[in-house]
Amino acid sequence: MSRLSVAATLLMAGALGCGVSAQAAAQPAAVDTKRLQAAAQEPANWMTHGGTYQEQRFSRLDQIDQYNVGELGLDWTHRLDIDRGVEATPIVVDGVMYTTSAFSIVYAFDAKTGELLWKYDPKVAKVAARDGCCGPVNRGVAVWQGKVFVGAFDGRLIALDAQSGDEVWSVNTLIDQERSQTITGAPRVIDGRVIIGNGGAEMGVRGYITAYDADSGDQAWRFFTVPGDPSKPAESKAMEMARKTWFGDKYWKQGGGGTVWDSMAYDPELDLLYIGVGNASLWNRQARSEGKGDNLFVASIVAIRPKTGEYVWHYQQTPGDQWDFTSTQTITLADLKIDGKMRQVLMQAPKNGFYYVIDRTDGELISAEKYVPATWAKRIDMKTGRPVVDLEKADWTKGAKLMMPGPLGGHNWMPMSYNPQTGLAYIPAQVAPALLEPDNEAVWTGKGTLQLGTLPVALPEDPTALKQVVDMYEGRLIAWDPIAQKEVWRQTYPTIWNGGTLSTAGGLVFQGTANGEVRAYAADDGELLWKAPANTGVMAGPVTYAVDGEQYVTFMAGWGGIFPTGFGGLAGNTQVEPRARVLTYKLGGKQTLPDEPKRKIEIASDIPELTADDKTVGEGRDLFNTHCGACHGFSAYSGGVVPNLRNMGAETHDDFLRIVAGGALAGKGMPAFADRLSQDQIETIHQYLIKRQHDLAAEMKAEGS
Ligand code: CA
Repeated sequence: MSRLSVAATLLMAGALGCGVSAQAAAQPAAVDTKRLQAAAQEPANWMTHGGTYQEQRFSRLDQIDQYNVGELGLDWTHRLDIDRGVEATPIVVDGVMYTTSAFSIVYAFDAKTGELLWKYDPKVAKVAARDGCCGPVNRGVAVWQGKVFVGAFDGRLIALDAQSGDEVWSVNTLIDQERSQTITGAPRVIDGRVIIGNGGAEMGVRGYITAYDADSGDQAWRFFTVPGDPSKPAESKAMEMARKTWFGDKYWKQGGGGTVWDSMAYDPELDLLYIGVGNASLWNRQARSEGKGDNLFVASIVAIRPKTGEYVWHYQQTPGDQWDFTSTQTITLADLKIDGKMRQVLMQAPKNGFYYVIDRTDGELISAEKYVPATWAKRIDMKTGRPVVDLEKADWTKGAKLMMPGPLGGHNWMPMSYNPQTGLAYIPAQVAPALLEPDNEAVWTGKGTLQLGTLPVALPEDPTALKQVVDMYEGRLIAWDPIAQKEVWRQTYPTIWNGGTLSTAGGLVFQGTANGEVRAYAADDGELLWKAPANTGVMAGPVTYAVDGEQYVTFMAGWGGIFPTGFGGLAGNTQVEPRARVLTYKLGGKQTLPDEPKRKIEIASDIPELTADDKTVGEGRDLFNTHCGACHGFSAYSGGVVPNLRNMGAETHDDFLRIVAGGALAGKGMPAFADRLSQDQIETIHQYLIKRQHDLAAEMKAEGS
């Protein structure tokens, strides 16, 4: 279709929602069942995480279109408090925006002017960042009848008064304080029940999802996703079924995983809530389930009754998952004409690299094809609905294997959108292979430590070998036809971890990028129509809304989370700073971002002499990658979000023990590790870092010569 005919179609379908100004709203966040179920008819608002219960992230607003998008300019910004990664999708209701930053801080803005109406800080202890695998991030709030709900990183679910930001109630959602569980996902509200899961599968936890009464905070129901202690009765029929798919006596001590840390969708007609269930814990099936079993309900989509938490059906995408293949990626509901018949489907592009179209009434697989290179399975058998796993390439428990996709997935948490007008899904995809090496004897060893059943995660320290890995990595924006199950167009990026997508009736797809831009593409053919600097990596899903008849687009900008921090060696080419900001654009917007320096890597002038032998350095490497790598960068390649330890000055070297054991910098978010590491171990880590500082000096010298 030509650009012109697309525009003509859209003009006819034109529907600019009638915006209500903040002042005019009688009660803030006045959202109820009726409004939520008809959210698509109110495009001026963005009332639930995925825009509507269908989670399509498609807006009928079309004031900004393919012709005028070049006139889009920055209208208002707000600098957020903490630069540790921004993943929130803002909620906008009647001219007020509710959004979050790292450490679960909630902000309410006048959506027209950007004026801060209130801010709520749940005061999550900064040191809690140690006890979550992937940074103290948060993906946003939910609203319901004058309240705003946020899941705090430390496991609390908190209800706030939407008018004042004052706390109304708070509950602790955690079942086991001795395990490292976090909430990073956005709650959803169905008929007055606030629904939230949690994260932490990499730290050895058991997954579940809980519903709370929106008024009182009382627990309505809890659905476990994996079985617990077999000496106790199963919590439900679903858990009786699941138990038969796990083996040995280790799994429930390892946690089992299956955390529901992100995606949900709801079909009000079928009255089904769909949840995306995460990977198994430990990753290594040999170490958790005697190397066998499907291990329900890990890596599955499960349909449950939102009133009772009762199980209805499940579809397991990756039986017996041992690749960190979560099914927590965006679940999108749509009605599609397939083989001449209208089908009520749900769609997902999970980490495992296959795009699934599933009948959402009963969980029957309709089709599944690879949307990125995936070597672990040859195809999905349509008779059984199961993957035909290529054991030769995929079973790393018998020896190291290069996995494609790796644990970062063909698509991670960045939201996918679906445009019913083009019939295309827009997937923030990526090519991100990884080497997995087994530790089949691994056991859960305590709170706050990565427990995978692999050798410690590491990146090549030799610059040439690292470059070979970097060259394998590629970010992709893929426009995917779910009926034909094929790619229609693609844009590529030099690095992975690019932002979530938003599709609009203006014929546009909006996306932020890892290397610090916000962009708009033509939805039909992928032509780049607009871009602007964001001065930081943009990962979150953008939203659009209208106030007083004017359309706005908001990007939550800010670099951080597991790839930017843990994999600085691969993310380093982004050269972005982690600066967190709300960036709101409109046609003719006149604001500009301040000029800010790009990231620079420097060498400290006085690096201590390396006195340790190779064996000590090797021990230091493993200890560092196990305890420090997820934040400071595996193999000490910093992503620039937390301090670069290859850049330590004399003062930090002198204070190393005081900082690491004693928590001298706890106020800045560097926890004490005396409970976990001995003084000897800390000194060994120090020696490894001195070695890596000398490596950096040599690399920079080689580059300069
Ligand atoms: Ca995981």
